[in-house]
Amino acid sequence: VSDEPAGGDGDGDVLVVAEHRRGDLREVSFELVAAGRELAGVTGGSLHVAVIGGNVERFGHALSVEGVWTVHTVAVGEEFNHDVTVQAVTALTAALDARFVLAPHSVNGLDYAPALATRLGVALVPDVVAFSYDDEAGLTATRELYGSRVAATVSVAPDRAVVTVREGWWPPATTVDQVPVEPFEAAVEASAVGSRVTGFVETSTDGVDLRDADVLVGVGRGIGDEEGLAAVEPLVDLLGAELVGTRPVIERGWLPPSRESGTFGRAVAPDLYVALGISGTAEHGVEVRKAKTVVAINHDRRAPVFRVADYGIVGDVREVVPALVGALAAANRDDENSG
Ligand SMILES: Cc1cc2nc3c(=O)[nH]c(=O)nc-3n(C[C@H](O)[C@H](O)[C@H](O)COP(=O)(O)OP(=O)(O)OC[C@H]3O[C@@H](n4cnc5c(N)ncnc54)[C@H](O)[C@@H]3O)c2cc1C
Repeated sequence: VSDEPAGGDGDGDVLVVAEHRRGDLREVSFELVAAGRELAGVTGGSLHVAVIGGNVERFGHALSVEGVWTVHTVAVGEEFNHDVTVQAVTALTAALDARFVLAPHSVNGLDYAPALATRLGVALVPDVVAFSYDDEAGLTATRELYGSRVAATVSVAPDRAVVTVREGWWPPATTVDQVPVEPFEAAVEASAVGSRVTGFVETSTDGVDLRDADVLVGVGRGIGDEEGLAAVEPLVDLLGAELVGTRPVIERGWLPPSRESGTFGRAVAPDLYVALGISGTAEHGVEVRKAKTVVAINHDRRAPVFRVADYGIVGDVREVVPALVGALAAANRDDENSG
């Protein structure tokens, strides 16, 4: 570890670990900075950002966001590596005496955050959607459990923690390019690095690009079977929509993986999202929260999807969808006759 002091007084300091993949910063890095800024605002500490991996100096200026004290570039390893990240963040946390480390609740974040918390000897609070803080009670974090049906508040004692932050939850912070960017030298023990990236395999997109889709129809397990999916197609056609499915729908092979909701990120923001037989857990999709109008059809009036829906129909999709198709077709005919 470098002898140079890395800044920060440890008094409520927050360290955010940015994420990059194959040469690009992921947008969740900017959401994390926004979350970290909020947390540092209430703890009264300073906000630091770490970016770890090969050639990471190039990300320093992009991560220079208002409210950040210093961006620390830790040029070790190449692509994301669990052991390298744990060692580097442990060293930087110690150098800063940071009390809270924020990582994304992503595949990579979930990979290293538990090991990091163990190494630091602090609590791990995963999948956080809100914070509050006061000097007496310390950090209280809100998590959603059981498919978003239960909101749990977690008090952290002693007052240090590794927190993974839900993707797509905080609005991303924007670059201002006025923050010091400093290299941090973490002495990574090569013998403790047990894995390496040997290559990447692109998943097929089947030519599907949903960024321009104005209307998405999302289908969930509640459509029942492939016949249920066929019954949805007239609605998709009438709305000029693209079809997406939840993970159980993809796992059953009813739709290809390229159409899995929750995997498109923020770039997909339709005007209308129609959720059919979807319970509506938070993981099921950023694009739902980004949609201007959400219509949900579910036979369980307590389904979490109704919390994000602008219009909800409590009913069986096998009855409601044909009724909607009939009504839309009739409305189209009326338009044609009057036009
Ligand atoms: C780390 C993590 C990441 C995840 N990422 C994703 C992701 O990217 N994308 C994703 O989709 N999921 C993801 N999941 C899974 C996610 O949490 C949910 O389990 C999944 O989205 C639920 O899919 P569903 O709504 O189709 O099924 P269910 O939760 O089983 O819901 C089915 C719904 O259909 C309703 N229903 C049943 N029959 C009818 C009927 N006849 N008429 C009307 N309504 C009916 C039921 O009331 C129920 O609400 C992730 C989970 C984890 C832990």
